[in-house]
Amino acid sequence: MERSFTKEVELLKLGAGQTFHGEGILAVTKALLQSGISYVGGYQGAPVSHVMDVLNDARDIMDELGIHVETNASEAGAAAMLGASINYPLRGAVAWKSTVGTNVASDALSNLASVGVRGGALIVIGEDYGEGASIIQERSHAFAMKSQIWLLDPRPNLPTIVRMVEKGFELSEASNTPVMLELRIRACHVHGAFEAKDNVAPRFSRRNAIENPDFDFARVSLPPATYAQEKHKVEVRWPAAVKFIRENRLNEVFEGPIAELGIICQGGMYNVAVRTLQQLGLADAFGISKIPIYVLNVTYPLIPEEVGAFCSGKVAVLMVEEGQPAYLEDALHAILRRADLQTKVHGKDFLPMAGEYTGETVLTGVAKWLAAMASPDVDSGSIHRVLDELSATKRRAAELLGGAVPARPPGFCIGCPERPVFSAMKLIERESGPFHISADIGCHTFSTLPPFNIGNTVLGYGLGLASNSGIAPMFSGRTVTIMGDGGFWHNGLTSGIANAVFNKSDGILVIMKNGYTSATGTQNIPSSLHQTEWKSDDMSIERALKGIGVEWIKPVYTYRVSEMAKALREAMNSAYKGLKVIIADAECQLERQRRIRPQIAAALQRGKRVVRTRFGVDEDVCSGDHSCIRLSGCPSLTIKAASDPLKVDPVAHVNNDCVGCGLCGEVAHAAILCPSFFRAEIVQNPNILDRIAARLRSTVIGWLQPAEGGR
Ligand code: SF4
Ligand code: SF4
Repeated sequence: MERSFTKEVELLKLGAGQTFHGEGILAVTKALLQSGISYVGGYQGAPVSHVMDVLNDARDIMDELGIHVETNASEAGAAAMLGASINYPLRGAVAWKSTVGTNVASDALSNLASVGVRGGALIVIGEDYGEGASIIQERSHAFAMKSQIWLLDPRPNLPTIVRMVEKGFELSEASNTPVMLELRIRACHVHGAFEAKDNVAPRFSRRNAIENPDFDFARVSLPPATYAQEKHKVEVRWPAAVKFIRENRLNEVFEGPIAELGIICQGGMYNVAVRTLQQLGLADAFGISKIPIYVLNVTYPLIPEEVGAFCSGKVAVLMVEEGQPAYLEDALHAILRRADLQTKVHGKDFLPMAGEYTGETVLTGVAKWLAAMASPDVDSGSIHRVLDELSATKRRAAELLGGAVPARPPGFCIGCPERPVFSAMKLIERESGPFHISADIGCHTFSTLPPFNIGNTVLGYGLGLASNSGIAPMFSGRTVTIMGDGGFWHNGLTSGIANAVFNKSDGILVIMKNGYTSATGTQNIPSSLHQTEWKSDDMSIERALKGIGVEWIKPVYTYRVSEMAKALREAMNSAYKGLKVIIADAECQLERQRRIRPQIAAALQRGKRVVRTRFGVDEDVCSGDHSCIRLSGCPSLTIKAASDPLKVDPVAHVNNDCVGCGLCGEVAHAAILCPSFFRAEIVQNPNILDRIAARLRSTVIGWLQPAEGGR
């Protein structure tokens, strides 16, 4: 069962005369429907998972408009889908998380960009950059430049975002080039409103099919056509894009009275830049700035005439460009040099070269720049005052905290089925010493954090086993690889498993079969148990493994720690030479809770008997050594002060968040720790038998317990 987006789907039905109120990424989804797309696809990944989630739940609207929706198996598949726009006047959009998704998609993107498009092709990329990101820190800008795909970076405000989606399709068609729409986390989640338009049915669609196929060798990426395509890119498509961007004023200039200075920013950086000016007393609450701002809603290509016009007559400009390399700042230098303009360009000399441009970072950088510019129109005293106040607040916060703010690393959810696998690995390591583990991308990557610290390398989504192929032969003992079921279908089956079978690898692979791509918001994958009518419900990991030639396969229910440890031990010591696959099977706890909670609530309302399992620690027995916590890592298994004054150390304690998965008890049993854990059943709406049993139990307990004051 995936999350339901019924409420969000209603927003997609709004038409002319109505106002959309909501989140940035939903506004993008609505704008796609207003743009007359024929097809849409994508691969889940924060911060743009919502695009696909909502469209998948909006099948009635899609069917009415004849739009084809595809949940692609990977970003490469999504990018290749844009091939529909090469020969035909079909508008299409795809979405994924970047830069990782763009890495996966880059082969198809290069081909697409080389041949160009007839129908508008829009790639919505969730730029996962900054301290809330979950991926390597790089910029998508490089991909746009290398393949000559135009890059939109809209100001985070809903009317601008929607306009850029609509204009993005027009730009794509005017220049026969695919367009990227880059949205940072904050832009995706910004809330606001815009005036909706009616959804537009595409010219060609599932309801209005194409009759005649088009063939044109010039649109195939094979030499000699590729040589002509490269020329066409720079001689025709690029100038056409520059003309369109200029004529349609996709970039924005906000004039201000302090004309000798100027700020140039990526569209996505506008909000933080204007908030900074507001804090420095140089802009009002509505964003009216005293310093002129040139907002690059299109960061590639730049428009030299616009840059020149903005910089002309200014002493200096500050480029607010998040991330590195400083592509835009370097380009500004080149444009001004060519135009023989002497305006000084600042940027990374006042703002950090790398890392997220948070409010504080930009405030500090802009304040220092303004102080250095010493403009007679800027009150330097107030700038210093703001900076001093900022450092005083931070100093005070540090004093109150008594030092550094403690780090809060992410971790597995309470009762996560993946945690027991790592508990079992810890037990095996205790017996046989540590072994090399190639980790992968997914919730299971949290295993690299305390308390497990399991997983030596991470090389990319689904690439765990492929990354193990070089290191495994260098060890005398066997190595282990971890892969999620999401990674398995994304590319692990071919890049890792086919490769290992083909090369007669002797490794051990643990596949975490939790049923969803949980880390991206629990979307369905081919082997999910409950599929909608639009997806095949007959794809199994086991069959795929057998089909590719894996002979040693062992499914284990993850919560049975002893069985998991036994399977690992067997794989480690087996005489079988070849890939050994353990399938760690249990549903993602987040999804399970989401699935059963309404069922429980409904049963309770009907007066039905409901039994919930909870675990606990008998504090009289607990010695307070906390080995269970080190082997489990469940946030629900915590500590509390012992009520026995003779016990100095705090005892283990299970708090009310426990979902009763049983792992802590299993671990205590498998590791022969202690008998402190107990399992309790909470019965709601008890029946007559429950009541009799409870009365009987309390009577017997009453007999066994001495009366108060007795001996
Ligand atoms: S989302 Fe699911 S798989 Fe991921 S940590 Fe939570 S319970 Fe585990
Ligand atoms: S049973 Fe133990 S491991 Fe499972 S959720 Fe409760 S405290 Fe956590």
